Amino acid sequence: MIKIKDIVKKYDGKTVLDNISTEFPEGKTTVIVGPSGSGKSTLLRSLDLLVHPDSGIISFPNFSLNYADKITSKQSKELRAQTSMVFQNWNLFPNLRVIDNITAAPIHVHKVPKKEAIAQANELLKRVGLEKYANFYPDELSGGMQQRISICRALAVKPKYILLDEPTSALDPELETQVLEMLEELAQQGQSMVMITHNIEFAKLSADKMLFIENGEKIFDGSKDEFFNNPSSRIKEFLDAIS
Ligand code: ADP
Ligand code: MG
Repeated sequence: MIKIKDIVKKYDGKTVLDNISTEFPEGKTTVIVGPSGSGKSTLLRSLDLLVHPDSGIISFPNFSLNYADKITSKQSKELRAQTSMVFQNWNLFPNLRVIDNITAAPIHVHKVPKKEAIAQANELLKRVGLEKYANFYPDELSGGMQQRISICRALAVKPKYILLDEPTSALDPELETQVLEMLEELAQQGQSMVMITHNIEFAKLSADKMLFIENGEKIFDGSKDEFFNNPSSRIKEFLDAIS
């Protein structure tokens, strides 16, 4: 379980996250929704220290960190061992083959022996039906495949949680489906995930928990069933607008 408490983030005096507290249960899928510019990416990035909040606390079963303190490299390493980010535009290394993209962090950051890292990467590729593509370069693959590879890359460092920031928003609908099916399968396998998406169908199918953020504030924090079956007028308005 990841818990966050009273996260505040300001840019140039403008409050982007306004005292956000919540929990991200382990083995579950948390989906974050909300209008554009509401602070969703800032919140998600705070979980990986890509963004450093001004204050607040993040805690895991084994350690916790106060964002107001100076964060040591040991602490950030510890935190990043728990979470791994998947980006909207996948950001694969274009000059590396698929297998080398997946093994780069395990070998160079986590010091996993090369042979072992390759075996694990092949295992991951097999799990998602992409084992044929181990020796391809990213630009030889569709955007949907590249995104599936980048999810494998995130999983390769064995994080507790994968964090996904609109992982399908740069994809055509057909390619989006491939990626969502992969994520649905991971969700079913109990992979802990926190995902920002506008794809409400995915949320209906795979979310365990929903967070709705607007203007840096948490508007809803609860179960998928409550979110969809008993929405407040604001949530209903949002759902109507994006469907
Ligand atoms: P969302 O992901 O919900 O669209 P973001 O978290 O990206 O929202 O952004 C929330 C607000 O913070 C926006 O007003 C955005 O312009 C602002 N913001 C985000 N990142 C920065 C930054 N690095 N510098 C200044 N303002 C930023
Ligand atoms: Mg965003």
